[in-house]
Amino acid sequence: MRIAMLCYHSCPLARLGEREAGGMSVYVRNLAQALGRRGVRVDVFTRRHNAGDPPVTGMAEGVRLVHVDAGPPESVDGSLQLYLADFVDGARAFAVADGAAYDTVHSHYWLSGLAGLELAEAWSARHVATFHTLAEVKLLADPGGEEPPERSPAERRIVADADALVVSDRHERELLARHYDAPRDRVAVLPGGVDTGTFRPLDRAEARRRLGLENKRVLLCVGRLDPLKRFDLAVSAAALLRERHEVEVVVVGGDLERDPEATRLGALAESLGVAGSVRFEGALPHDELPWRYSAADVVLAPSWYESFGLVALEAMACGTPVVAARTGGLASLVRDGETGYLAPQHTPECYADRVDVLLANDALREAMGRAGRAWAESFSWDAVGQRFAAFYGGLLTAEAAR
Ligand code: UDP
Repeated sequence: MRIAMLCYHSCPLARLGEREAGGMSVYVRNLAQALGRRGVRVDVFTRRHNAGDPPVTGMAEGVRLVHVDAGPPESVDGSLQLYLADFVDGARAFAVADGAAYDTVHSHYWLSGLAGLELAEAWSARHVATFHTLAEVKLLADPGGEEPPERSPAERRIVADADALVVSDRHERELLARHYDAPRDRVAVLPGGVDTGTFRPLDRAEARRRLGLENKRVLLCVGRLDPLKRFDLAVSAAALLRERHEVEVVVVGGDLERDPEATRLGALAESLGVAGSVRFEGALPHDELPWRYSAADVVLAPSWYESFGLVALEAMACGTPVVAARTGGLASLVRDGETGYLAPQHTPECYADRVDVLLANDALREAMGRAGRAWAESFSWDAVGQRFAAFYGGLLTAEAAR
């Protein structure tokens, strides 16, 4: 089995937590490496994001990252379609020069999906597409958001043409069926995973000392500074809780100089009188995050929408309860009343209420933390890699049978 993964717009090895590098980068990197450990050969194709990127980098045994020249490195999402043809040509040229023959193309996100349509045909390979997010679903969750007009028609083409679609949970399969007319039997539900070795419970007292927050109650948010993440709800909830608890909101992620959301959140905290209790840390590398998750009393994931909800899973893997929005993948990933709570509405009161319950009860927090860790272990990448290898194998067998 030989797989070409397409991850055109975000590099799986990029610095996480900034504009284009989030959950999808983590997902593609870990999936490719987990497959590599099972003896599946994988080439991950991305565009060259930095002038200094080497053409080919080893990511693990049998797993390579291939940088294809497609547009100037600093290009941003809105302009990336212009360079898709270069990306397709570059990937084809690489395969010819390398002598690589792929039986499956797995594309990630709609731009890669478009490239996947062409590459799968050129290579006579199966095309598996994972959207990670869908334009129509994002717009439903956040009607003020903006999407390129060609995105949704492109997603429809990919749905109609791909051999299989992979989603992280059943809810997403329903959305694909409802909004994109995807036949349910072509949509496989395969949850993503978490690196349970990196994300594990660390000593809470030591974690707090590192943050200089020994005497505070810590509420943590992690992610790109995007309005979709609704970190404003964490800031507003902290304002509601301040009479009862000494809370500090720690926000990890984003580019504090460039992201307008950083300014907006800072101004909100100021207007609510909690600016002194909100700390923006900017983007941090993955290795630093287990210390943050372990220092937190509660992790908040109040997003308008998440197709999976990796941050919630990382938090649970570190033994910290999560209060998340009852939306998308979060609704099944966080077990309400067991590993945290699901907030039924996007209001500061809903979040403050659940956080208050947790902060007031040490034994409950600890029990939920333990349950979260146990639950997260079922999402180890080795387990996920095994399911994916079986899935790709099944596609080949089904085709051979036809
Ligand atoms: N992340 C990180 N450093 C940061 C912020 C985020 O490593 O400063 C990682 C985080 O640990 C998670 C991913 O980026 O693995 C975010 O994934 P998620 O699916 O929650 O959000 P997305 O960015 O895909 O919307």
